Amino acid sequence: MESSSDSGVATTTRCFPGSSAITVHQVLPPTPASAPPAQTRRPPGRHRSVPPLSGRSPVRIGRMRESEESSMTTALPGHVVETVPVTRLGNGHSLELTVHRITGSAPGPTLVLFGGIHGDEAMGVEGVRRILGSLDPETMSGTVIGVPVCNPYSYDAMTRHTPNDGLNLNRIFPGLRAGSVTEQLAAVLSEIILQGDYFIDYHSSGLYSTVDYAYMLTDSRELSLAFGTKLLYAHDPFPGSSSEWAMRHGIPSFTSELGGGGQFTDEYLDKAVAGTRNVMRSIGILPGEVEELSTDRWVMDELVTLRPTAGGAMLSSYGPDQLGTVVPGGTELAKVVDPYTFETLETLVAPFESNFLVLAREGYTRCSPGDYGFMVGNAGTAKPVGG
Ligand SMILES: [Zn+2]
Repeated sequence: MESSSDSGVATTTRCFPGSSAITVHQVLPPTPASAPPAQTRRPPGRHRSVPPLSGRSPVRIGRMRESEESSMTTALPGHVVETVPVTRLGNGHSLELTVHRITGSAPGPTLVLFGGIHGDEAMGVEGVRRILGSLDPETMSGTVIGVPVCNPYSYDAMTRHTPNDGLNLNRIFPGLRAGSVTEQLAAVLSEIILQGDYFIDYHSSGLYSTVDYAYMLTDSRELSLAFGTKLLYAHDPFPGSSSEWAMRHGIPSFTSELGGGGQFTDEYLDKAVAGTRNVMRSIGILPGEVEELSTDRWVMDELVTLRPTAGGAMLSSYGPDQLGTVVPGGTELAKVVDPYTFETLETLVAPFESNFLVLAREGYTRCSPGDYGFMVGNAGTAKPVGG
């Protein structure tokens, strides 16, 4: 999730060493020697010439893993997995980023996809995996680079901020190679973003809530429109975010905020896959016409996060299944009750005259002061797409 302040912490379903085994065997065969090299097709005045990652000191492409057993449906040529070293930790472990690179059979632009910048937003991680798994290099023109887990220690700890140094990775781009763990991650990721002609960053809610919208940046409207979410938020990216770094370099980008909470997971992941494939059609990586994924679409210019000021038990009046609907001003969205005395501590109320539900917490959740409660957009000032 993205917000001007950062106190939301949530978890999602994942496995630890020793928990019930989920073995993920990854990796597809390396690109055969006969496959064409990655090339970019840059419309005039839009694309830049960026040298390969391996040539950009001090970031180095690491070893390529050998094929084991693929969790994807078919082992496809043109898909390689690279390990990019970041730093060595105090515990002696190496911190690395795993970078997927799928090269199409024809030249074309390069699209970079990030997941897991916030470690508690696992739907972005899974979204990147499913999107990459949906691609067939034979039908692609160009390259897709995917980093499913941008902050591995944050993902492991299921926290928004990196546990090693407490920083929010999405507020410190372009990072610092001589900096802390998060700053070094940002430095490497910044270089990867510059490999692309286009960039998408996938976020979501955590365990306790579900979200459904996408950002629409000033210079990237067409990209967001092709993604197809019902709700778009016209807002430039937060300083220090991955999207701001991309925007500063003229790379069209947006942030996706889809899913979370463990409910309707497939629905939101399907949206991410369908929307991204539509984006790929819009920039020529995939063949075919751009589809109209929804006819009921709105661009919001005002979006607020409602946060409890007291901890306790939050009882929601609206659930994730009602995202995208409109409620009148003054509607009670949730209340926080004292689980000890049962008194109502506060209520979260829809603030605009007319409100889109953008993020909703599930029925009963424990909350801390400052958590994400609900997010609502101003439906009164929102503009219909095409209207
Ligand atoms: Zn996020």
